[in-house]
Formats: sequence, C-alpha cells, structure tokens
Amino acid sequence: MVTDLIQIRLLGDKKRDENFRFRRYMKSHDHSDRILRRVAQQIEDQIDCTECANCCRVATATVTTRDAERLARYLRIPVARFLAEYTVEDAEEGRILRRSPETGCVFLDGAACTVYDARPDACQRFPHLVRGSGSIASRMWQLVDRASYCPIVYNSLETFKEKLGFRY
Ligand code: SF4
Ligand code: SF4
Repeated sequence: MVTDLIQIRLLGDKKRDENFRFRRYMKSHDHSDRILRRVAQQIEDQIDCTECANCCRVATATVTTRDAERLARYLRIPVARFLAEYTVEDAEEGRILRRSPETGCVFLDGAACTVYDARPDACQRFPHLVRGSGSIASRMWQLVDRASYCPIVYNSLETFKEKLGFRY
C-alpha cells in the first residue's frame, strides 16, 4: 500500500494513461461493482484520513443549501454571513468552500478539519468510491484525477486492476 503523498502524485501522474485504458477495459469486461466497493472499503479502512487531509488541500468542496445551514448553525452565525465569508461561486462547480492555492480549504488547520462534525456532504463522501452514486466504471474519469492525490483512490485502482486481470 502506497501512502506517501509525493509517491502518490508521481505514480498517479505516471499511470494516467494506464488508468484511462483501464477505464475502457472496465466498460468492456463484466465485473461486480459490489466486489470493487468492498475492496475500496478495505483500503479505506486501512488509511487514516485525519492524518492525510490531502483532498482538503487539493480539491474543491461543493456546498449545498443544507450544508450551508448546518455549517452556519455549527459556527453560530447567520447563513448569509456564512455564505459571504466562507464560500465562493465557481463557474463550473457552483457554490464551493473558500480555499487558498497554498493551504487549501478555509476550514483546514494543519491536517485537521475545524468543522469536522458539520462538514459538507461532499467531504463526508469523498473520495466517492465506496459511497459514490452510479457504477465505479461510470466515475472513472474523476477517479483517474484523484489517483494523483488520494491514497485511497490510487491503491483501490491498483487493486481493481489486479482483481479484473487488467494488463497494461
Ligand atoms: S470542510 Fe473540512 S473536510 Fe471539507 S474540505 Fe474543508 S477541511 Fe476538508
Ligand atoms: S480521502 Fe484520500 S486524500 Fe482525502 S484524506 Fe482520505 S486518503 Fe487523503
């Protein structure tokens, strides 16, 4: 299992083409999503996200109305103030948490999420492998990107390839 984040970035980038090939392979070979989700769950269980937090540094987090209400209540401020101070509107993704290119999410402190109990649904479900909607094959285009920064995704894809007999 690879968990070093520098290695994950190097290997994830190096295997980009291979992973896109695997995406096509999955679409043309019968496989069980249930088994793949179980594999991903086993990998997720072995990785401590509270020590990693790389997605909070690298990825955006979308905010739904329900998330905004929950976070505003948690921070004891009005929803309008929460939206103005802690979120921005992104042209492609809609409302997302404010972030800086250097330190990531506005709520990240070191490797700790300061609003963990009230964090957005998108954060709770990340990396959307075990808890993603639709089949894993249908989400592979996102997973190929995430394999460059998320140890759960990188190691899951490597194990999926082994299980499905994929050779590059
Ligand atoms: S809200 Fe918390 S879990 Fe979500 S991106 Fe920010 S720091 Fe990470
Ligand atoms: S979901 Fe992936 S990138 Fe995010 S903290 Fe967990 S292992 Fe790290």
